[in-house]
Amino acid sequence: MAEQKRDYYEVLGVDKNADDAAIKKAYRNLAKKYHPDVNPGDAEAEKKFKEASEAYAVLSDPEKRRQYDQFGHSAFDGGFGGAGGFDFSGADFGDIFGDIFGEIFGGGRARSSRNSGPMKGANLRTSVRISFEEAVFGCKKEIELNVKETCKTCNGSGAKPGTSPETCSKCGGKGQVMFTQQSLFGTVRNVQTCPDCQGTGKVIREKCPDCHGTGYIPMKKRYSVDIPAGIDNGQSTRMPGLGEPGVNGGSRGDVLIEVIVGRHPIFQRQEFDIYSTVPVSFAVAALGGEILIDTVDGKVVYDVKPGTQTDTRVRLRGKGVPSWRNKDVRGDHYVTLVVQVPDKLKPEAKELLRQFDELTGDTLNAAKNSDSAPEGDDGKDGRKKRFWK
Ligand SMILES: [Zn+2]
Ligand SMILES: [Zn+2]
Repeated sequence: MAEQKRDYYEVLGVDKNADDAAIKKAYRNLAKKYHPDVNPGDAEAEKKFKEASEAYAVLSDPEKRRQYDQFGHSAFDGGFGGAGGFDFSGADFGDIFGDIFGEIFGGGRARSSRNSGPMKGANLRTSVRISFEEAVFGCKKEIELNVKETCKTCNGSGAKPGTSPETCSKCGGKGQVMFTQQSLFGTVRNVQTCPDCQGTGKVIREKCPDCHGTGYIPMKKRYSVDIPAGIDNGQSTRMPGLGEPGVNGGSRGDVLIEVIVGRHPIFQRQEFDIYSTVPVSFAVAALGGEILIDTVDGKVVYDVKPGTQTDTRVRLRGKGVPSWRNKDVRGDHYVTLVVQVPDKLKPEAKELLRQFDELTGDTLNAAKNSDSAPEGDDGKDGRKKRFWK
């Protein structure tokens, strides 16, 4: 032979001991990559495709593989060594190309409908707006959906009453057709979904006037949905069996309802915990005392400890959001206490604060006393002027 042939195992990139599955897989990948339909006009790809196909034809056939293992390429020199004359008989290309064509040309459905078995219908999706509290405690919401209902006129067959769907003559009811294709190395048989019946195996000669042969009537339907407690923004709840009708007796798909949770004026949520900020008066922060804190359960009394600093965070256990996995388990509510510094004071209040400062200022502001006093002050009470003006 004029051209030095590459080793078949090397061509497919498999081990000498590779099993049938590995050989098939390797060839599948190469065929997908170098198939002439994917690389039109690419001579190099065409050559690679031929080379891989030849290697596969030999290695996928136990008898040929045995001969090749024993004699190498010379095992096939006598009979069909001529250019383009390689014998591909016995190799199982049809199956592989059926798959590859399916993948390359988007006929992915061909594979599933090939069996014509029951298939679950598609899911329908919709969304619903709910409030913060509704998400926390759950709620019922009305939704409206466009669904397909089985046509009552034809009972879903799609055929005009008095007639019935006929077995597809093109595929004989199998839903798939075999066709042969002349390719570079001979005839290849492919299997594809029947174009006449789209894989159903049946054709409708006279269509039902109500559903136009589809077997379904589109309808608007209202449903009441239970939104579970604890659901969060962007999460979905599911209503099983209310989606698109199945095919060939398959069950209906589901309806997925995504919730969009509105903002709350004072609460923020993170997972199952709630966060809020509560103002505390200067006096309560200093002296301690009871305050009311808003929670999703209503107001709760909280006992502020004397000497509470601003930005102190307190935890209200179990006042958060219930887990949608287990309603009895709730997150916590974290409250940040923000001490309010009074800015508009009545003269009496100012006077009292001055007295307060007389009593405490020296210790509180010992450090700040060392700051220089503002202009015009006599130094003695400069600090007070600076703070109170
Ligand atoms: Zn109908
Ligand atoms: Zn058909």
